[in-house]
Amino acid sequence: MGFKLACRDLDAKSACPYVARSETMEELQAELTKHAKTVHSYTDEQLKDPKMMEAVKAAVKQE
Ligand SMILES: [Zn+2]
Repeated sequence: MGFKLACRDLDAKSACPYVARSETMEELQAELTKHAKTVHSYTDEQLKDPKMMEAVKAAVKQE
C-alpha cells in the first residue's frame, strides 16, 4: 500500500505526465516538491501556501 499523486490532478490544464509514488506521505511530498520546483519552477513560498497544501492532500490517492 502506498500513495500516488498525479501532477495533472493538481493542475487540470497541465499536460504533465508525472506521477509521484511513495510509501509515505512525507516521501511523496518531498518527491512532488522536487518535481514542482525543477519542472514547473514553483517557489518554496508557492508550495507552502495553505491552499496549495490542501490541493495536494486532496489529489493524493492510495493504492
Ligand atoms: Zn508536473
